[in-house]
Amino acid sequence: MIDNFGRKIEYMRISVTDRCNLKCRYCMPHGIKKIPMRDILTYEEIISIAEAAVDLGINRFKLTGGEPLARKDIGTLVEGLKGIPGTEEVTLTTNGVMLMDHLDELIEAGLNGVNISIQSTDSDRYGGITGGGDLEKVLRAIVAASRSPLKVKLNCVLHRDIEDEDVTGLIELASANNVDIRFIEMMPIGMGKSWRGMDREKVVRVIEDEFGKLEPLDGRRGNGPARYYGLPGKDIAVGFILALSEGFCEECNRVRLDSKGKLRPCLGYSEGTDLKPYLKAGKAELREAMRKAVLEKPERHCFSERDTSDNMISIGG
Ligand code: SAM
Ligand code: SF4
Repeated sequence: MIDNFGRKIEYMRISVTDRCNLKCRYCMPHGIKKIPMRDILTYEEIISIAEAAVDLGINRFKLTGGEPLARKDIGTLVEGLKGIPGTEEVTLTTNGVMLMDHLDELIEAGLNGVNISIQSTDSDRYGGITGGGDLEKVLRAIVAASRSPLKVKLNCVLHRDIEDEDVTGLIELASANNVDIRFIEMMPIGMGKSWRGMDREKVVRVIEDEFGKLEPLDGRRGNGPARYYGLPGKDIAVGFILALSEGFCEECNRVRLDSKGKLRPCLGYSEGTDLKPYLKAGKAELREAMRKAVLEKPERHCFSERDTSDNMISIGG
């Protein structure tokens, strides 16, 4: 559907859990006070919301969290979403540690793609930033996923401890597996407020010193706000998602459903519409509540003017 600023809203990020198997230092270093399971949307509730979303023209879904693979039987949800007539795409974003265990199930369920978050190719540095994550498992999953029918992308958040070698190592990793990679500017949400790292100029310098000039790629790639570039002699695209320094609000095409059922029109604001009461009220009421919520989507995020009280876990990235 078209929002009040003429943007076509066609994409919904769905946070399926607040739980995670890692403790990334820039995200949830001390863990979290868990939301009771009874307050978290069931798969049936998520499917009902997704059906209403498809009716509104929002037909691309990304599962996130917390760690979406920490939620039991995630393949069942993927299958349910894919089974909604009109669904265009279901993808998932993961830290990758448990991906090998779920890959076959996800492919069988019809998943279209996976984004894997990885911050370093050095196992000590990776373990340090993720609070003990096992890099080997992630690397195995990247190799297996990139050889599967899934569309695979790597995501690296530019946190304050990132080193030049992390940036170049991740580009080598992406290139070796023939997958695209995106560098994401740290957003001032949760711990991110004090973890802003390398800026765009520095990342570009590090990449170009090692691999040659980044050339802008024409045409749209993926659903997101990334701007993509090519590198000499490499078949991959390098993307930048720069919410603060460049902004992406004009092209924003998404809304977010948090794990408790709040539909959030913008990741910069805590405000949203609790859909749970409308789930009980009926299909037409649910669809109308969602339509109204989308029309409340602000023109732009508010990162430079005010803080959000949220953390990334509750929003889902
Ligand atoms: N656990 C999964 C993962 O790590 O991919 C999915 C949830 S995680 C919250 C989604 C994405 O948000 C990850 O790529 C993570 O690195 C990123 N992220 C976390 N905190 C962030 C922040 N303050 N700014 C920008 N991205 C952030
Ligand atoms: Fe977990 Fe993802 Fe947050 Fe890391 S970024 S702690 S993997 S939710």
